[in-house]
Amino acid sequence: MDSDLFLEVAFARRDFLERMGQDVIREYLYLGELRNCDGDLLKDWVTFRGKNRIILRGRKRVHKGKTVTGYRCCDTCGAIMYHGEAPHYLCPAPPAGVRILEGGAGTLVVTRDLFEKLSPKKSRDLDFYQLPVLEEPLDDLPVELKCPKPA
Ligand SMILES: [Zn+2]
Repeated sequence: MDSDLFLEVAFARRDFLERMGQDVIREYLYLGELRNCDGDLLKDWVTFRGKNRIILRGRKRVHKGKTVTGYRCCDTCGAIMYHGEAPHYLCPAPPAGVRILEGGAGTLVVTRDLFEKLSPKKSRDLDFYQLPVLEEPLDDLPVELKCPKPA
């Protein structure tokens, strides 16, 4: 049986991201073009990926006697695929001096000063919340999650 491949693509209005400043965008984000079904460039919109990643840690959850939180390693690229129950938090603390991290497709973790520049409004398409930084994770996993680099 064929399996379908789904890719999550994060996109945002260009002017929204630009509230953080061009220098910040250049330092922390990769931007891409967005086109409609007819191939027309949507100039007001961009796709984005973070140059730095962080895992949004969660809580341990047991369902029918099995732990459903945890992580595994991608055999191809060595990426960590993590699942933990909300509410989320950061553990360990993000690297000092990094102002934007990607916490999964479509999720950006930004410092408070950048959050204030963005001054987002909650909507059907946009949610945000403050992330606590914890010294000990609540998912029964080590602080540092590691995957071997594929050969
Ligand atoms: Zn991979």
